Amino acid sequence: MSNEISFFKSIKFKLALWYSTLLFIFSIGFVFILNIIAIKYIENQPGNPQLGGVFRRGSIIREITETERILLHEARMEDLENFRELSFYSIIPIVLLSFVGGYVIADRNLSPLEKLNREMRMRNAGDLSSSIEFKDRGDEISELMNSFNSMSERIHRTFESQKEFVENVSHEIKTPLAIIQANLDSALEDKKISRDELEDILNESKKSVKSMNQLTEDLLLLSVLQHDIAKEMINLKDILNSCVKDAKKIANGFEILVDNNGKDVMVSGNEMLLGRAISNILENAVKYSGGKMVTVKVESRDGKEAVISIADDGVGIPKEKRKKIFERFYRLDKGRSKKEGGRGLGLAITSEIIKDHGGSIKVVDSEKGAKFEIRLTKA
Ligand code: ADP
Repeated sequence: MSNEISFFKSIKFKLALWYSTLLFIFSIGFVFILNIIAIKYIENQPGNPQLGGVFRRGSIIREITETERILLHEARMEDLENFRELSFYSIIPIVLLSFVGGYVIADRNLSPLEKLNREMRMRNAGDLSSSIEFKDRGDEISELMNSFNSMSERIHRTFESQKEFVENVSHEIKTPLAIIQANLDSALEDKKISRDELEDILNESKKSVKSMNQLTEDLLLLSVLQHDIAKEMINLKDILNSCVKDAKKIANGFEILVDNNGKDVMVSGNEMLLGRAISNILENAVKYSGGKMVTVKVESRDGKEAVISIADDGVGIPKEKRKKIFERFYRLDKGRSKKEGGRGLGLAITSEIIKDHGGSIKVVDSEKGAKFEIRLTKA
């Protein structure tokens, strides 16, 4: 495929040809009409045999001789012929000039497209971050350039987050794999290894395999969440109660209260996924808040929205980190998270589940601790 567009195939040439062809057709039509008007005019002037030999101009009216009449008519016909020739010949330079002018205008206006084309050929995934410089004239081409720039930025961000994702996953797998490798090596090298030592090694390796299994499950769930999920009519009150029951099993003295007015709050959703989303927040409160209690509430607002709030009385989440905690692999208190077996995927999964249900989740201001608020559309 050739890189250069041939002159005759270029839009600039085609546009210029169109301008000049149209101008040629209009000019011919214009000259033709002018000629008809001129003939009509001459026919109404003295010298026309049909008008007789009378000369009229303002108040001057006099008979003209036959010779004057013939001379006048001949002179006018000659003028008409000259006018006809002049007008036809002047069309040629006008059309040529319009072609050149049209070409220059098209070239000037289409130059950002050529720049865009050059950049698109030259760029690869690595240099999509910088946008193409151009003069924004507010026209269709400027709009196209703006769209291209914002599209490259979006692709760049996707590439970056994919790269980061692969780095994070590799990092998460590296540690349990290294543990298994070290355990296997020591078991193989130590010929006099006791039964108890072997059991310890195997148990530690089992923990690492479990951690990798959990990671794989979380990643699979995240990828499923990007597709359509099955939904049915569900009662949020029932889901909350069941999540609270499960969370109490790991609560260890941590109190979990349900502030419920007993009313049903129906939404269209996936029971298992919404349960997982709520459980993640409840378990986090138990694991990370450092408080004593978490209160869960579901209510209906304005008849349209279902609002679930989960508030603990712990250390809370700093304002500047309230968005970050929903990113994949983000841990606020790294030491504590790792100790609890967290990989920073819990809230990312929760946020994806809520988004898949057309809702929103955020950490809102509260007097003490962290308060999560989930908003869903009521069924
Ligand atoms: P993980 O999957 O590792 O448990 P999450 O994505 O669920 O991580 O949470 C991200 C981070 O947010 C955690 O590392 C934790 O430090 C912080 N966090 C979550 N919930 C709370 C809370 N209720 N109080 C304080 N910190 C919290």
